[in-house]
Amino acid sequence: MRLSKMHINTLREVPGEAELPSHIFLLRAGMIRKLVSGVYGFMPLGYRVIRKIEEIVREEMDMSGAQEIHMSAIQPSELWKESGRWTAMGPELWRIRDRHDREFCLGPTHEEIFTDIVRNEVNSYRQLPLNLYQIQNKYRDEARPRFGLMRSREFIMKDAYSFDRDEAGLEKSYDIMYEAYERIFDRCGLTYRPVEADTGAIGGSGSHEFIALSEVGESDILYCTSCNHAATSEQMPGVDDIVADGATDALEELKTVDTPDTKTIEEVATFLDVPKEKTIKAILLTVYDDDGGVKYHVTAFLRGDRELNMIKLVNALKEPEHMVVMADEAIIGDATGAVGGFTGPVGLHDAKIIVDSELEHLPNMVAGANELDQHMTGVNYGRDYKADILIDIKQVQEGDKCPICGAPLAQARGIEVGQVFKLGTKYSASMGALYKDENMQEHPIVMGCYGIGVSRTMAAIVEQHHDDNGIIWPVSVAPYHVIITLVKPDDKEQAAVADDIYEKLQSKGVEVLLDDRDDRAGVKFKDADLLGIPVRITVGKKAGEGVVEYKLRTDADRSELSIATAIESALTYVTDGLR
Ligand code: ATP
Ligand code: MG
Repeated sequence: MRLSKMHINTLREVPGEAELPSHIFLLRAGMIRKLVSGVYGFMPLGYRVIRKIEEIVREEMDMSGAQEIHMSAIQPSELWKESGRWTAMGPELWRIRDRHDREFCLGPTHEEIFTDIVRNEVNSYRQLPLNLYQIQNKYRDEARPRFGLMRSREFIMKDAYSFDRDEAGLEKSYDIMYEAYERIFDRCGLTYRPVEADTGAIGGSGSHEFIALSEVGESDILYCTSCNHAATSEQMPGVDDIVADGATDALEELKTVDTPDTKTIEEVATFLDVPKEKTIKAILLTVYDDDGGVKYHVTAFLRGDRELNMIKLVNALKEPEHMVVMADEAIIGDATGAVGGFTGPVGLHDAKIIVDSELEHLPNMVAGANELDQHMTGVNYGRDYKADILIDIKQVQEGDKCPICGAPLAQARGIEVGQVFKLGTKYSASMGALYKDENMQEHPIVMGCYGIGVSRTMAAIVEQHHDDNGIIWPVSVAPYHVIITLVKPDDKEQAAVADDIYEKLQSKGVEVLLDDRDDRAGVKFKDADLLGIPVRITVGKKAGEGVVEYKLRTDADRSELSIATAIESALTYVTDGLR
């Protein structure tokens, strides 16, 4: 492609709202364009990258025995009501109505649709196993769309669904997809870590997320430095700190003490001169129902030095995430007796009490007295208060113990680029997707589902592959492999050499951009760096002597090579990069 003919508009300025390198560079390189918040379009070079990623995904899915189909993004509400997700999904579900006032949504994911297809078309064990997938736009009215392609409201996803006759079959299908995901992300040039994950609104019994490591990622993962066990922060079980002599500690008497102006854990610990580990922290929440009314109030308690993991709490409550919100202190106070800053587990009423499992083992704690400026000492689980739910709700931190081997955990941030789920019979049972076995007995089909954020993967690749000047595409997903920078397009000798290299590389299957624009060389070099094309061949003054400059986008060095050697080097580099 000749750049003079290509529709491309690079920007010198950093667009105001863009903060992350991927967002900034994709906009500046003219690869994506914003329509409205969280809605982007792809321009020629950007769309080529999307198609490369899609092609890698497609090849690996096809090789794994999955079959591509293409469903509509428009989904009737009836199917979502059958699965129970029409209300469970909340405001993220993009709801629309047709002219007859019938309700639909723009699909955020397609479990219901694929289950519907299979229940209508599969009825015998002979038709199983089956794996169907599509690459398609998804819609989620995200509360905070941001970072460009990273968290958008319309995005491209590959979603696959496996159908098996039993759990053993599902295990097999799951492993096949897991391995395909490893190959896909390897081929995309990503450094990533598969981690155990929460199943969230999708549901099911087991899951892994594939996290592209990046400091700017929104996912928080923990991994063991010794046994390699890795999980998202909501999925990593906290190891309770069991005080060694706890069992023999004499239980102190429960006492109320004055603690003026000690609303925070720090303040009360300092005032009473006890470590934070001896205090109990309270978190007040309210669960709402579908009509916006208060369903019930929740008080959660954990050791004072710990942080709450909100997803663990939501899972313990078995409520949709968007229905659980931080409480208004005045409202919850009137209803339950809780006093903001002085809430403790003793003496509350009309609240669901959730206690972090660790507190069961910790004797003689300090907690709020549910009176202004007062705390209680000698607070003991079992004797003084009981939980409605006693469960791990703490955020695991770097240095905490691995639940498997006890070694210290390390923490990392990353971008969730894919997730695989063992769904089991969650959808097939509720929607009646059954098959008949050899004896004509009916059973629910055992399902798995497998998503990859194609557009988010594009952003994640840029996060991992850029420098101050722009993107550095891995060859496998680069919009073009080689850019020929023609310094003086009106110089006949230079133009002829550039054309010759262009033709020869293209004839070998290399994708080449020829920068024949009537612009200063400096502008062209800047653009070449910004666009991130892996190999640059500059045709300039020495073209007449048969010498050109060869430079890789990953390296600072440039070398002068003969035309033939430059072509050969580019070809080798590209071929190796595609392997
Ligand atoms: P997140 O936790 O980031 O909101 P999710 O777990 O809800 O994502 P899944 O339902 O697992 O997402 O969807 C499969 C994949 O789709 C994700 O792994 C991610 O790569 C991609 N994805 C999800 N939401 C978005 C979004 N708003 N913008 C771009 N890609 C997304
Ligand atoms: Mg996910």
